[in-house]
Amino acid sequence: MASPRGALLILAGAVIVDPDVEPIRPGGIVVADGRIVAVGRTDVLAGQWPEVDRIDLGRLTMLPGLIDAHVHLCYGGSEDDEGARQQGTDEEQVAEAMMGHARELTEAGVTTARDLGSPGQLGVRVRDALAHGLGVGPRLLVANAPLTTVGGHAWQHGGTCGDVRALRQRVRERHDEGADLVKVMVTGGGTTPGSDPARLQFGLAEVRAVVEEADALGMPVVAHAHGTEGIAVSLGAGVSTIEHCTWMGEGKAIGAAWDPGLVVELARRGTPVCPTASALWDGMPEARRRAKVDTVRRMHRAGVRLIAGTDAGVKRVRHADYARGLAALHECGLSAREVLSAATKAAAAALGVGHHVGTLEPTKTADVIAVDGNPLEDVSSLGNVKWVMCGGVVVRSAADGG
Ligand SMILES: [Zn+2]
Repeated sequence: MASPRGALLILAGAVIVDPDVEPIRPGGIVVADGRIVAVGRTDVLAGQWPEVDRIDLGRLTMLPGLIDAHVHLCYGGSEDDEGARQQGTDEEQVAEAMMGHARELTEAGVTTARDLGSPGQLGVRVRDALAHGLGVGPRLLVANAPLTTVGGHAWQHGGTCGDVRALRQRVRERHDEGADLVKVMVTGGGTTPGSDPARLQFGLAEVRAVVEEADALGMPVVAHAHGTEGIAVSLGAGVSTIEHCTWMGEGKAIGAAWDPGLVVELARRGTPVCPTASALWDGMPEARRRAKVDTVRRMHRAGVRLIAGTDAGVKRVRHADYARGLAALHECGLSAREVLSAATKAAAAALGVGHHVGTLEPTKTADVIAVDGNPLEDVSSLGNVKWVMCGGVVVRSAADGG
């Protein structure tokens, strides 16, 4: 077989090509020009590609790069709430912090992430800097400033809208800025003083207008919704994914406004939900933690499509803690295989990038990681990332330690 210039054969003890398919043992992939060109058993590939450069990852398991569907690169996840909210007010300082957090994510095995709210146009700026190789980080899908009410959740980012006209205008602005998607704060949020996550910020007509405007521009709409009314509005408006989805009722009680009819509809429509399971859950008061786990468990049982995303950057959720969110999903009743899919194939499909990432198949982008252990049986192995390749470039090697 003729070798493309610069082809690289990467071998490992096992290759998980797709979370729904049994691994190839031992196996490998061939990468050229940033893409996967072949996948197969070690003996077959070694025979077909005898002349190419080779990386042998020994007994490690190779798998698709991981996806975090919900991050805030502008925040660092520090214990101090104020510190988490404000990485300095200077734009250059914030951009620099974002580049650092992007690196943390990728070192944890995350090769694709959605930045769902950063100040001004910094999301696009950091996305493009990373795409041009000016730093190490995941490929990003960015929202820039989220759409919110005047004084509403995350108003500090600069996306406030007073009425439907302003909402439509903001959508067009995001498009002109080059954002990949539109984030809309359908309910309030817990991290903004004076904002109530159980309550609606926008009604059905307003969110419908956002979806309609974004649709015409080819942009997906991502809805932040805690309260049940917000979930109903998001679903009714036809958003692409729903974030948090805590079924929050009066008094900010998680799961208190559970609606059996609405969850059936959510599952039937197939709208992906990112429940932002994360390291934050580890330190929660027991009753609140149980309510979180129980709510996600019930959605899973009802057949709701769940994807991995950690809200990294918010208080007590560092970007490096990605795998702790996967452990939390496992605790909610997702099998190890389901967790892996929620972090790769299913997430890629939900984000609209399933044609080029999420599995290891020829023609797809070479976003590949290797871990110690078998993630199809042991979710904790995903916290043991030893090697990371992003777009065909090795950004973390087994020799880096850790
Ligand atoms: Zn968020």
